[in-house]
Amino acid sequence: MRALVFRGPMDLAWEEIDTPQLMEPRDALVRPLAVARCDLDPAIAIGLYPMPAPFVMGHEMVGEVVATGDRVGGFSPGDRVIVPFQLSCMSCAPCSRGHTNACENVASGTAFGLGPHGGVDLGGALAELVRVPWADVMLIPLPPGIDPIAAAGIPDNVSDGFRCVAGPLEERPGAPVLVVGGLAPSVGLYAVMSARALGSERVVYVDDDATRLETAASLGAEVIDAHGRWDSLKLEQRFPIVVDANVLDAGRNFALRSVEPCGVCTSVSGGATSNADVPLQAMYLKGVRYEIGRVHACATARPVLDLVSNGVLDPSWLIDAVVPFSDAIEGMTMQATKVVFVNDFV
Ligand SMILES: [Zn+2]
Ligand SMILES: [Zn+2]
Repeated sequence: MRALVFRGPMDLAWEEIDTPQLMEPRDALVRPLAVARCDLDPAIAIGLYPMPAPFVMGHEMVGEVVATGDRVGGFSPGDRVIVPFQLSCMSCAPCSRGHTNACENVASGTAFGLGPHGGVDLGGALAELVRVPWADVMLIPLPPGIDPIAAAGIPDNVSDGFRCVAGPLEERPGAPVLVVGGLAPSVGLYAVMSARALGSERVVYVDDDATRLETAASLGAEVIDAHGRWDSLKLEQRFPIVVDANVLDAGRNFALRSVEPCGVCTSVSGGATSNADVPLQAMYLKGVRYEIGRVHACATARPVLDLVSNGVLDPSWLIDAVVPFSDAIEGMTMQATKVVFVNDFV
């Protein structure tokens, strides 16, 4: 089958690789229909986020079941499904607590489309077929009437933006939210969208990218252009809920400075370097709760899909490019907030 292989920085190619087969009775084979570009994908493709090659890219996928193992009871060929990007058994202790990115039954970090990042290469969604283990718990039925393109980001980036504000807003209903945008462009804007949808009284979005500022304004945020002056930027108000989707040290530290005493800041990345310069003493004195870690994709995608089904969240708002698989090499690095690749190989 054809699959989009990351062979190294600036070196993507459609290659013929072995077609996945049902290997275990709980497996399903899924044909990807729509695959969203994760905010991390362009950084991988150009070598900004170094990853060992080769592997098949694509991990935000909506697809169609084409075959199931003997012990799959809940799905049949033809069913349309959302596939969370991390592999989780949904029955071990961490999975039962909702900590599905820490599943005890897989190597840490095991995910689609990120190669052996987590120790096991599951294959990727930019391919004609994907094998999904533990199908009955991994697959989420796509409700009729929901466009696969609109839902394609739910397996990762939409859920990632949502979780940054959903928990904090549950603790402090209606509280104002600050989102610091940047190198995780769609995650930051999905956080804005989620905060508005979940009833935040005021959402402020800071970035230095004119297009994203415009999008955030269209989502109902007050916007502030940082003009790259992250080190000196100071807002009049501090916020109980802050989201750092900027990724770089200066943007993250601006986010941390902007948290009110005893507020919470959630970072959606580990930063661009392994030794980040984090102002721990100032955070300690102010009592900043700093959340950092990957989204729990399996646990979060379900409530996010409910909001999409009910019309509360519309992830398609951010999709500014729909690109056929056959043009995915160019699409992987094109200027856009959210690209969705559609399978034109069928
Ligand atoms: Zn991702
Ligand atoms: Zn588990």
